[in-house]
Amino acid sequence: MLPSDGAALRDRVFAELSQRLPEDEFKAWFDPSKVSLSSSGSNCELHVRNVFMAEHYERNYRVALEEVLSRVAESPVRLAIRVNGDGSALAKPAESANGEPAILLPATIPASAAPIPAAIANGLVLNPNYTFENFVVGLSNRLAHAAATSVAASPGNAYNPLFLYGSVGLGKTHLLQAICHAILAKTPGLNISYLSCEEFVNDYIASVQNMKELEGFRARMRGVDVLLIDDIHFLAGKEGSQEEFFHTFNTLHNAQKQIILCSDAPPKDIPTLEERLMTRFSWGLVARIDTPTFETRVAILKRKAEARGTPFPEDVLFFIAQNIESNIRELEGAVTKVAAYASLLARPIDLEVAREALRDALEVASAPVSIADVQAVVCRKLSVKTAELQSKSRTKSISKARQIGIYLARTMTNASQTDIGNAFGGRDHSTVSYAIDTVKDLLHSDSAFRVFVEQLADEIRKSKL
Ligand code: ADP
Ligand code: MG
Repeated sequence: MLPSDGAALRDRVFAELSQRLPEDEFKAWFDPSKVSLSSSGSNCELHVRNVFMAEHYERNYRVALEEVLSRVAESPVRLAIRVNGDGSALAKPAESANGEPAILLPATIPASAAPIPAAIANGLVLNPNYTFENFVVGLSNRLAHAAATSVAASPGNAYNPLFLYGSVGLGKTHLLQAICHAILAKTPGLNISYLSCEEFVNDYIASVQNMKELEGFRARMRGVDVLLIDDIHFLAGKEGSQEEFFHTFNTLHNAQKQIILCSDAPPKDIPTLEERLMTRFSWGLVARIDTPTFETRVAILKRKAEARGTPFPEDVLFFIAQNIESNIRELEGAVTKVAAYASLLARPIDLEVAREALRDALEVASAPVSIADVQAVVCRKLSVKTAELQSKSRTKSISKARQIGIYLARTMTNASQTDIGNAFGGRDHSTVSYAIDTVKDLLHSDSAFRVFVEQLADEIRKSKL
């Protein structure tokens, strides 16, 4: 059982957390004036002031908090993160356990994919929103979309295999599942199997010990009419699974059964992928999904805002589309954030609200970051001069600032290593690489350093708003 006295509970939990976190970080996020805890039975609530704090705790501290709470309670504890409001500003205030007006963090707030109830049809677990109707077609995904629709219309006869690739958050999973939905709607009798490559690998490993199970696994994989495997790049470095998949592939392909794969890289760039698989993956159609153009981003944002019943004015759509370029999942996240922020403060969705909502989330900058922007913040925060960053000086504080500057320039701007080397006093390629690696290593090993560098990056982004 947890202590029912909120203050006593908080003292115990925070005391333990203070041991785990760097002092600055602990002070910044676990000051009793900012957060409080309450409990009833094995449920516990963390109360925070706004939706952005909620998101931050969700992302960074939920696991640690649940661990500590479970230890204190000596049984598993589930934590809910709640945003306190004054009631009046909330569209629909919900009652929290202790009667305080609160709203639950909207499920879609975390940057990661929102948990959407899955539809199960023919034993397939599919996201009901991932349909062709909900997929916005633009220059960047036109080919992949066209190929996906023709495969769905005539499985086994169009392109075999269909191989889609592109970076994260660009709609690969959406298209794969849209194919499933379309086939199920048209020919419900077809035997479709949609699984992540990880599931394929895990099922294979689990069955390999036992001949009977292995036969069962093979029969399942090789007996389908349509096989879709998501994130096939997960086969990298897994020789046994590659071998098994090779045979699965051959059996299905010979029988003219449809195979659809997606990956974050084209077949030739999947590390350690066997040559014979690489060639097979390229037998049908390999279609790349690019990052969406500005117009497509606007169209996607518009669709997402309308789908949640909160149409956005055009200038807001433009603002978000200008600032979030690379990832459609982030575009969706931005829509949710702006809508949640406006509803929380009972304000209309306008440019000002969008700016505030997204500035607090520290994700967007209104103009691209330049090397000079990075240097300006690094110099200000680390008390060095630009000339010193560019000098030959090897004084510890200066070379540290220089390395951080080079790293941030590399990760936050589009500049090449050569440009960066030039901007930091004509340094050569290997010096630039060395600086980046050094900072990366430190980011891994030293959490206080990581927090510090993240704060610098936030400062740089803010300087552009
Ligand atoms: P990937 O599998 O490539 O990482 P997802 O398919 O999971 O990306 O897409 C990320 C999010 O973006 C999903 O919520 C998806 O619905 C949405 N999305 C991606 N592309 C589009 C598009 N063209 N139109 C509408 N929504 C899209
Ligand atoms: Mg995916």
